[in-house]
Amino acid sequence: MFNEERRFEQPIRWAMVGGGRGSQIGYSHRSAAQRDNLFQLVAGAFDLDSERCKDFGTNIGVDADRCYSDYKEMFRKESQREDGIQAVSVATPNSTHFEICKAALESNLHVICEKPITFTTEQAIELKTLSEQRNHVLGVMYGYTGFPMIQQAREMVERGDLGEIRVVNMTFAHGFHNVEHEKNEPGLKWRVSPEVSGPTYVLGDLGTHAYYLCELITGLEVKRLSCMRQSFIPSRAPLEDNAHVMMEFESGAVGTLWASAVNAGAMHQQKIRIVGEKASIEWWDEHPNQLKYEVQGEAPRLLDRAMDYLYNDSEGVSSNRIGGGHAEGYFESWANLYHRFALAFQAADQDDQETLSKLWYPDVNAGIEGVRLCEKCAESADQDAAWVNFK
Ligand code: NAD
Repeated sequence: MFNEERRFEQPIRWAMVGGGRGSQIGYSHRSAAQRDNLFQLVAGAFDLDSERCKDFGTNIGVDADRCYSDYKEMFRKESQREDGIQAVSVATPNSTHFEICKAALESNLHVICEKPITFTTEQAIELKTLSEQRNHVLGVMYGYTGFPMIQQAREMVERGDLGEIRVVNMTFAHGFHNVEHEKNEPGLKWRVSPEVSGPTYVLGDLGTHAYYLCELITGLEVKRLSCMRQSFIPSRAPLEDNAHVMMEFESGAVGTLWASAVNAGAMHQQKIRIVGEKASIEWWDEHPNQLKYEVQGEAPRLLDRAMDYLYNDSEGVSSNRIGGGHAEGYFESWANLYHRFALAFQAADQDDQETLSKLWYPDVNAGIEGVRLCEKCAESADQDAAWVNFK
């Protein structure tokens, strides 16, 4: 069970690039990272505007001389300090991720980057090579995978409770952008601009989350896919605000993924249903403490977080924070992931390859596969939903 007692002698000295005042995701990172005394925010290049960066940074407790006008200056100056940063989170728009992650790894920092980590698979692989050369970890913020019931789902598949997997149905389809909100929302405007967002909008923004849940829970590998995508708000073209993907996995299983920002009336609708030969499981991020478990011929069951009938975390990274029945949510999921990142950073620093190889966290490979998904879906959609090989 989590409590606030120290797990590390000293918290990891940590910084952020991006995530400044008014950003969508900066607070989630800070709130999760500092939740369990594992990370301490000591520096930042939080904003494109240096005055706003300083004003915001000092307001949240960072020393003025460690609020930097750009990330290059931060990495250079921090590397000259004895108490310089050890890790950085990158929460800037997509087009900047590659350069910032590269510079961070070259400065011997551990990195947690937002998704999609790059525009191209080639760039993502380059970051992986660099992180291996530097023995520094590059993690990806697939924030929904820290929910304890996702670990339970993973264990159930691994132990064969479902039998052979046949079908995976993934959706992440909200309705918040069913009209042209980007006229007044800078945070949406860049998402529908290819030069900042990359080759996709909803596939990268939402589809990568749903797809990573599938990868993590089932371990299935995509063999080939077919994608069609639309821009229901015409000015968003060539980027899609709705996409349907069909997948064939190497094992013979099949899957579908629906990513959308125009699912009018829906909140998140991030759901995954995994159908095996004996039973199915289903998880929905709007009710993350429950996992539906349906065995053919038996009454359906709703499994609840923190109950004794669940499997224990086989990696020994218990994510339990409060007893069953209390609502746990998004921030806890993120904090659970930051806990895993901290353990990975520590193992890398100690060159403990065995721990690193056993510990699950959204790593650079997860980042690469998310980028590959975007690339391949765009390739298929641009050929009228032709089937394309995944690798
Ligand atoms: P945003 O536009 O709301 O905020 C971006 C922030 O980065 C701003 O503070 C801006 O000033 C700053 N910034 C931009 N370029 C910078 C640079 N070069 N140096 C320093 N700061 C810079 O964007 P957002 O919605 O917070 O998204 C940021 C990233 O997070 C994107 O990659 C997005 O895909 C991702 N995201 C992930 C999740 C998730 O669930 N994991 C959710 C939302 C967003």
